[in-house]
Amino acid sequence: MDFVDLIKKAGGPNVQSCYQCGTCSGSCPAGARTNYLVRDIIRKALLGLKEECVSVTELWYCTTCYACTDRCPQDVKPTDVIKAIRNIAVAEGHMLSNHQKVAVKVIETGHAVPLDKEMWQQLREKVGLEPIPPNASANPWAAEEVKKLSEICGFDKLIGYEEFLKAEEEKKKKKKKEG
Ligand code: SF4
Ligand code: SF4
Repeated sequence: MDFVDLIKKAGGPNVQSCYQCGTCSGSCPAGARTNYLVRDIIRKALLGLKEECVSVTELWYCTTCYACTDRCPQDVKPTDVIKAIRNIAVAEGHMLSNHQKVAVKVIETGHAVPLDKEMWQQLREKVGLEPIPPNASANPWAAEEVKKLSEICGFDKLIGYEEFLKAEEEKKKKKKKEG
């Protein structure tokens, strides 16, 4: 399957309607502050330049604000195209390390941003809330179920969970060795 067909299948079915008007990039708050150009990524995708799309850090600068999707005259839905390319990128092993860390948190705690610091619990108490909210943080069985689900659906493999754990173990050993 060529790259354009992969994108269409992964959630960007209208990608080939793009006629490169640039309205998306002109509307893009991420592009106003960085070298990210949504129009450029779509152009490269249409040319079949897969590596140039999936391996660049800029692919992750989109904030999914949907301004481009609101304004695209061709109904390309550029946000969805970017998300489709991101899905392809992750499936092919291109994932930013900070995103991988967040994904690991989801597997291990059931939350992308768990309340795993005492300070946050104290802040909650300060405003009259229970220190630990009644979600997976307070229910270890729920966190276990999230872990099981991640195994069943292959999320753990997708994000390289085992490899992440091994790398962390190696880091710890190295640190211990260095004293
Ligand atoms: S606004 Fe739509 S048609 Fe114009 S360049 Fe962006 S994706 Fe293509
Ligand atoms: S959804 Fe992404 S690409 Fe589109 S305007 Fe917002 S930040 Fe830019």
